[in-house]
Amino acid sequence: MSLGSVDPEMARAIASEIERQQTSLELIASENFASCAVLEAMGTPLTNKYAEGYPGRRYYGGCEYIDVVESLAIERAERLFGADHANVQPHSGSSANMAAYFAVLEPGDTILGMELSHGGHLTHGSEVNFSGQFFKFVRYGVGEQDQRIDFDQVRELARAHRPKLIQCGYTAYPRTIDFRSFGEIAREVDAILFADIAHIAGLVVAGVHPTPVGHAQIVTTTTHKTLRGPRGGLILCDAKYAPAIDRAVFPFSQGGPLEHVIAAKAVALEEASRPEFKEYAQQIVRNARAMAEAVAERGFRLVSGGTDNHLFVIDFRDRELSGLKAQRRLDRAGITTSKSTVPGERRSPWVTSGLRVGTPAITTRGMREEEMRQIAGWLADVLENLEDEELAARIREQVCELCLRFPLPYPVLA
Ligand SMILES: *Cc1c(COP(=O)(O)O)cnc(C)c1O
Repeated sequence: MSLGSVDPEMARAIASEIERQQTSLELIASENFASCAVLEAMGTPLTNKYAEGYPGRRYYGGCEYIDVVESLAIERAERLFGADHANVQPHSGSSANMAAYFAVLEPGDTILGMELSHGGHLTHGSEVNFSGQFFKFVRYGVGEQDQRIDFDQVRELARAHRPKLIQCGYTAYPRTIDFRSFGEIAREVDAILFADIAHIAGLVVAGVHPTPVGHAQIVTTTTHKTLRGPRGGLILCDAKYAPAIDRAVFPFSQGGPLEHVIAAKAVALEEASRPEFKEYAQQIVRNARAMAEAVAERGFRLVSGGTDNHLFVIDFRDRELSGLKAQRRLDRAGITTSKSTVPGERRSPWVTSGLRVGTPAITTRGMREEEMRQIAGWLADVLENLEDEELAARIREQVCELCLRFPLPYPVLA
């Protein structure tokens, strides 16, 4: 029986969400549109199977085909990233990070990580997150002038605090990350380098951003951001850390793996190994640059002055406008963004003084520089005329028309 006949209420809610995705501009830097092949793998009876353990060493019977599925995902991840070892079971980026920390640290150990308001993630030591409760975080940040990572400060703090682990990789950092310099500093103080490439994994595999593999001993990522797979996580590591990483995922922090999602991860990894994906990643970056430049030309200040990757952050500290208000106003025009803290933040993490804008999702739709300039114009128009409801409604229409010119390939649910 189809979903529509078993549960029409739910079918309607899902159909509405698909329609929202079809008809609005997704500029949230951490979102993307998975392919129909990825969705197909995810929606299979693989969800029925318990498979605690790893290929060849399962705690349940009947895992012969599940082993094929997971082994494909592992091999593809290792090959694509050039890593010694991959664990494809983490349910999310946060779960991957939890396993990464506990694989090599004891509670109370010191981690050198980025100042959260400068672009870090919750799992990089927020006090409301397990990371901040179990580990002692010392923080580096971006320079006041150029708003880029200050490696003199990273080195100084590493020497002074001798952290067991140095964390790099961020949520809202618009510039290329110099993993080599992080690696040198980590070696000097005998720390493990941990790179969280949740946002940039797709750029990394396409060669559009330098890889942390070879510099960082442990690398985590989500699979649903620029990598464009199903929602989930992934850990890569040097051979030396493989047993500890595997134990930290199962049995330490997870039970049965989501094999239907792991199958979809494998499909996404296969897609990401193709030449078209390289072109896609290059276009993401060209699009981000084009939109950032057009927004800056309208007089908005950008964190670090621009972007090298898939996102930029507008800094409203010189305006009355907050990130929260900007996000809400843009929503009315069908432009979906996410507020963001900025370096030197004075507002709360709920309100914020910044807006993070990313191009992975709209680039998947096939939009290019011309559309970026158009969208930047709408975005600036809304932010400059916050109370103009008519303007917002007019832009909403135009957004809808643009989206229908670049449709998503998803079937419409009845
Ligand atoms: C998104 C993100 C995560 C967490 O991913 P979830 O799947 O939402 O748990 C971890 N680290 C960074 C840097 C991220 O941007």
